[in-house]
Amino acid sequence: MTTLTDATHDPALRSWVASANEAGADFPVQNLPFGRMRPKGSDDAWRIGVAIGDQVLDLRLAREQCPWSGEVSAWLAPLADGDLNAFMVLGRPAWRGLRAALSAALAEGSEQSPFLELCLLLQSQCEMSLPCRIGDYTDFYAGIHHATTIGKLFRPDNPLLPNYKWVPIGYHGRASSIGLGGAIKRPSGQTKDAGDAAPVFGPCQRLDYELEVGAFVGRANALGEPVPIGEAEDALFGLVLLNDWSARDMQAWEYQPLGPFLAKSFASSISPWIVTMDALAPYRRPFTRPDGDPQPLPYLDSPFNREAGAIDITLEVWLQSAVMRTAGQAAVRLSQSNLTDAYWTWAQLLTHHASNGCNLQAGDLLGSGTISGPKPGTYASLMELSSNGKSPITLPGGESRSFLQDGDTVTLRAHCASPGAVRIGLGEVSGTIVS
Ligand code: CA
Repeated sequence: MTTLTDATHDPALRSWVASANEAGADFPVQNLPFGRMRPKGSDDAWRIGVAIGDQVLDLRLAREQCPWSGEVSAWLAPLADGDLNAFMVLGRPAWRGLRAALSAALAEGSEQSPFLELCLLLQSQCEMSLPCRIGDYTDFYAGIHHATTIGKLFRPDNPLLPNYKWVPIGYHGRASSIGLGGAIKRPSGQTKDAGDAAPVFGPCQRLDYELEVGAFVGRANALGEPVPIGEAEDALFGLVLLNDWSARDMQAWEYQPLGPFLAKSFASSISPWIVTMDALAPYRRPFTRPDGDPQPLPYLDSPFNREAGAIDITLEVWLQSAVMRTAGQAAVRLSQSNLTDAYWTWAQLLTHHASNGCNLQAGDLLGSGTISGPKPGTYASLMELSSNGKSPITLPGGESRSFLQDGDTVTLRAHCASPGAVRIGLGEVSGTIVS
């Protein structure tokens, strides 16, 4: 990865799809995220689409109906078949090449617009599925402010464990229960109150969300072959929002000594559109460590990672209770934080994951860990906002919340903004708790 931005990021670029040019749109022509879709209510085969404004460019139709060069047509073939994994394995030259072709085709003045107009569908008329086959899911713990705030609840004098600033902490999550949100069934499990002699089995009483970002691996590494950090960027395909729903009471009882298990594996929700790492180039930031903190070990360090390893993404959590919904009251924002607060970059997380020879595969999902800032308005879970239930928060209608109630809808949103670049968004992911 050498030159970061190119003509596809030009803020002056406009699309012939009018809604893509509206201020504040998540999906201007500079974004071009991939999702897996079909017309709502149809039993058509799934295909990959690209979000543009409030529309989706159906790449199955686009490949059939529009003239493309042989090279672009070959890149579109797996996407027309709904197989994003097969496109991922083609690697960054294909990702960049197709991005350039789609950018030109969707830009104002494109000669392809008369063909592609026939390949658009309103997003509201699309049914979305998971964007790709997710073989494995690993959740990291790179939000140092989250780790510190949570750690303080249990170890006020020593919130961060001694390994935290040296080794990226993670655990193996459950891929099969990843979805796009919607109804999230309250899990049941073992919980034990401090004063009780024995645990009980029953519905989770301390259900929480975690605002995270997910990264899709695009390039596999063979078993036994680590990924040097200089190659890690080329193995990263793109980002989504990730809600790591968490049953805090189950987690507290089960997590020692091996970490989270059933407290996390009942559901994780991602946003449907993968915003590519190429689209995120204008929002790259230097990766720095606070004075006095250890520098990463050499295998997790590179000049590029220091110069541009971090990504500036504003992250938000919104909540609407059933009572608020009935009263016609809009969702309230619970927090706003930024991915630059992560203690490790995506390249470091990927390189560390593969450093023992573990083989990552195209479509594997890496979670960032909860990305909180250092202050209450930036706390990205209810456990932080309510100090583990000790200080409930008050919602606009007067209800209070320590943890999620049935009927609560949690929505994660994210966007990137930078001088000299157009704002782009990651879209959103919503889930509503049901009993
Ligand atoms: Ca998590």
